[in-house]
Order: sequence, then structure tokens, then C-alpha cells
Amino acid sequence: MLDVIIIGGGVIGCSVARSLARYDLKIALLEKAADICEGQSKANTAIVHGGYDAKPHTLKAKYNVLGNQMFGTLCTELDVPLKWNTSLVVCFSEDDIPKLEALKKQGEINEVPKLRIIGREELHKREPSLSPNACAALLVETGGIVCPYELTVANAENAAENGVLFYRNAEVTKIEKGDSCWVVKSKAGAFETKAVVNCAGLYSDAINAMVSEDAFKILPRRGEYYILDKKYADVFHASVFQLPTKLGKGILVSPTVDGTVLIGPTAEDILDKSDIRTTPQGLAKALKFGSLTWENIPLRDVITTFSGIRAHSDRDDFILGEAPDAPLFFNASGIESPGLTSSPAIARDLADLVAERLDAKENPNFNPIRKAIPKFREMDDLERAKAIAANPDYAKIVCRCETVTEAEIREAIRRPVGAQTIDGIKRRTRAGMGRCQAGFCTPRTIQILCEELNLSPLEITKFGEDSKLLHSYLFGKGEQRHA
Ligand SMILES: Cc1cc2nc3c(=O)[nH]c(=O)nc-3n(C[C@H](O)[C@H](O)[C@H](O)COP(=O)(O)OP(=O)(O)OC[C@H]3O[C@@H](n4cnc5c(N)ncnc54)[C@H](O)[C@@H]3O)c2cc1C
Repeated sequence: MLDVIIIGGGVIGCSVARSLARYDLKIALLEKAADICEGQSKANTAIVHGGYDAKPHTLKAKYNVLGNQMFGTLCTELDVPLKWNTSLVVCFSEDDIPKLEALKKQGEINEVPKLRIIGREELHKREPSLSPNACAALLVETGGIVCPYELTVANAENAAENGVLFYRNAEVTKIEKGDSCWVVKSKAGAFETKAVVNCAGLYSDAINAMVSEDAFKILPRRGEYYILDKKYADVFHASVFQLPTKLGKGILVSPTVDGTVLIGPTAEDILDKSDIRTTPQGLAKALKFGSLTWENIPLRDVITTFSGIRAHSDRDDFILGEAPDAPLFFNASGIESPGLTSSPAIARDLADLVAERLDAKENPNFNPIRKAIPKFREMDDLERAKAIAANPDYAKIVCRCETVTEAEIREAIRRPVGAQTIDGIKRRTRAGMGRCQAGFCTPRTIQILCEELNLSPLEITKFGEDSKLLHSYLFGKGEQRHA
């Protein structure tokens, strides 16, 4: 019998797993996809928000500000890159300055420190590439940027190192009441557990409905983005927002911690939770509004586009805590932006609540430290020589655009909750994330996956079952050979 099952391996589920590992509990995480971090947590704006935007006295406001304060220590413990690059909310007409003042006041109610309105001169001194039409901005000193998939993976690895079991390809299909326990039925088998934590993102309404009459709905809201080549890494220092709308924080132009530039997201209510297309209309909108901030966006240097789907709840706030009619069933639902920022604080409070309800003791062996895979691209010459001497696979570059070596790819597979797909390698090492978008490194990555996991090339997928990359005709099995 398990003590806790966590459903969903996004940033919330993996953070809850790590926080719960601080307690002496038997814990498993079930993820429906072939890898963790396949949902909202892989496709978002990657901002550690200050907290000015959330409506005061909501859970979003509370956890945004608390989470923001925890990020420094968290990223140090997990060895995850984080940059306090500041956020700016710009306006393009003097008439809109009162809206910036209102945003500042809202942030102050939320207890966001060091908010300041800056005028044209300081704004353009800070951001020389900004459109000359920008005339004022709210400066958010506590705004930052982080890599959302590296953070999710780091939480999972650290949780696994502290004893949490991870099951992938383990979609939860039913939850029943057993004799003083929950029986969680999944595609990886049935599990008995004392407590369940629902972190299923866009599908958390369906999981909640399996046990509780206290229904809510998750309404999918798509956001589309462009990513620009690393040569523009220094064009903007801050993450530059425009005034928010009722659908979200508006289109931004932001550097990423990995040196690319993001433009987006749009905000469109859609019906299908799995519809992660980008559309000509969506991208045109991102470009139109992005160009207000950065005139003449160099479209030639767009390396890819993507979309992410927000899990907006019909309660218009995070839904956190024990369901009123299902003892020991806990929700972390409706976690849209600022969910990434809020994740450490949500996870801490939820884990404390679950532990209290289970009367759990602390885990004396919990180790909060996780070390990242050493990155060849960040080493100086001496460090490179040492790395190659210790492991000759560091001398073999697999991904040229991002300078990722065979040693890093092999380690990404061998680690706890290791990569088993091409996308899994990409999120853990950046192989395939660069300008050529995996055109060069995919064949070698497939080969390494085969060697490490003892699989045939025909079994290697991009992101799970429905995404096999190769057909048998390439390997001489005549039945699928083209005429
Ligand atoms: C466009 C966009 C921009 C954003 N920008 C920001 C930002 O800049 N800053 C910020 O703080 N936040 C941002 N967010 C919000 C943030 O990304 C989310 O709040 C956060 O990633 C939610 O994490 P999660 O773990 O709840 O959900 P997810 O990452 O979606 O994880 C849920 C997991 O549950 C799994 N699952 C679903 N059903 C089942 C089942 N039946 N059985 C097992 N597993 C299941 C899914 O496969 C998935 O892996 C943004 C979100 C979007 C979409």
C-alpha cells in the first residue's frame, strides 16, 4: 500500500513529489504521457512573475508572491538556471499611464516589493531596442526567467533520488474507494493508496469528477509563440510585457535563460484540450502585437513556433486542497499562469497538508541537492579538457547548434526518471532545440537511445507511442517498402 499517489508529472506534480519526499512516506507519481513535462509545463513563457498582475486576495496572488520568493533557493538547490532580469510592463500612450499606476497599486496590495513607474528616458536607456513609441513602464525588479522543463525535470530527479517512484505511460482511468484507501486504476496497473493528489493540469477536472461531486471545469486557452535565434539574446534585457487584458498578461518579448527570444503568447479560448497547433491567425496576432514592442521583428530568424494550452478554471483561481466530500483526495487544479512561479509554494503547502492529514514524520534522509548534467557549451577550455579526459564521450558533439555532446545525452538517459524519447533528450540537454531544430542530431540521438535502452530504431519515438520516427522499410523489412 502506498501513502500518496500524485497524478500528473508537470511542474506541479513533480514539485509536490519533491516536497512530499521531505516526509517519511511511500509515494508514487503516475504520468499519462511517455515522459514527464509533456503538458503546460513544457510550453509556456518561462517567467518568474513578480505578482503585480494577479487579482488581490486570490490564491494566484498569494502563491505567486510566495513562490517568487522561494525561487532563488530552489534553483540553487536544484542547480537550475535562473536569471533575475526584471519585468517591464510598457505602455505606448500617455493616456495609459493611469493603468500602469493601477497595476502598481494592485501589486502593492499583493505585497510585491520594489515596484516603480519609469518614464521614457529611463525606459529607453534600459532597453534601447524598444519601440520609440513606448513612453512609460511599470518596472518589476523581482521578475525573472527560468527554464521550465529543466525545473520540472530537476524536481522529478530530486524526488526520485529521495525515493519517489515514477510511472510513465500510466494514464489514470478510474479512482475507486477501497477499504480505508483509494484504488487508483491506471494503464500501468492498479495501486492502493491512502491519499491522492490531483495535479493533472488540463484534465484535473475529469480526475476530480472520479471521486467528488464538487465539480469544476477546466477551460482550455491556447497561447501561440515565436522563438528567435540566439543571435538576438542581448536585444532585450528585461521581459517586456504590454498592458494586460482580461484574457491574460498580453504579448511579451522576452529573452530566455537559454539565450533565445520568445514572442507571444496569444490567448484564445478553444474546445479541444489537446489542440496544440499553431495557426496563421494566432501567429499573425503575436507578430502584430509583438511588433508594438520590437519594431521590425526579424522573422527570418524565427527558429520555430509553438503553442501552449492554459488550464483556466471556471472558478477563475487556483483550486487547492482537500475535496470537501472526498477525504484524503487533494486537488492542485486550475493552475494556469502564474503556476510555474507559484509551484514551489503550492507544493510546500500541499505537501504539508497531506503530511499532516497522514500524520507523517519528517524524512531524516531527505537531500534537497540535485546536480545538473555538466554542460559542455558552458565550460571553458580547461574544463572541457578535464571533462574529455574523464569521459571521452564529451569529445563527440551530437547537436552542433547547441553544442551538446554524446556524454550529456547518455547521462540524460541514465539519470533517475531518465529520457526515453527524442523530446525527452531535448528537454534535458537542448539537443535539437537550436537553429536547425534537430535536423542534424536526430539520427545519432536515435542510435544512442537504442544503445542505452536496448531498443530497435523502429521503437524510438519523438514523444511516445503515436510518434514513431522510422518505418521498417529503412531497415529492410520488405512489407512496408515503397514501390
Ligand atoms: C501559454 C502559457 C504561458 C504561461 N506562462 C507562464 C509564465 O510565464 N509564468 C508562470 O508562472 N506560469 C506560466 N504558465 C502557467 C504554467 O505553465 C502552468 O501553471 C504550469 O505549467 C502547470 O503545471 P501543471 O503541473 O499543473 O500542469 P501540466 O504541466 O499540464 O501537467 C499535468 C500533467 O498531468 C498529466 N495527466 C493528465 N491527465 C492524466 C491522467 N489521467 N493520468 C496521469 N497523468 C495525467 C499530463 O500528461 C501532464 O503531464 C503559462 C502557461 C501557458 C499554457
